[in-house]
Amino acid sequence: MPKIAGYRCKACSSIALSYRAVCLNCSSNKLEKVEVDGKGKIFAYTIIRIGPERFRNQEPYAVVLVKLGSGPLVTGRLVADDLENIENGMNVVLEKQDDVAYWFKIV
Ligand SMILES: [Zn+2]
Repeated sequence: MPKIAGYRCKACSSIALSYRAVCLNCSSNKLEKVEVDGKGKIFAYTIIRIGPERFRNQEPYAVVLVKLGSGPLVTGRLVADDLENIENGMNVVLEKQDDVAYWFKIV
């Protein structure tokens, strides 16, 4: 299963996916690079019916905000045949990452 690169605070163990000089939770500057598991739950989602030029011919598609099991939120695309039955709280897993997005699938 692909992983997501992030940073873990050595003081409080909270995880951020983008680099910060200090931990937003406890202000420690002791951060280490980690790779976190791609398992999580749909926190919020939307269906894009008219996308930007670059993604024409892919509509409609789902953009999801996923709450990873390790804590952080990450935005990605959802690989799903049935866009009408997506719900918040569904379990998802990272399938791949490319230059467009993290791609999650429902599990
Ligand atoms: Zn911290």
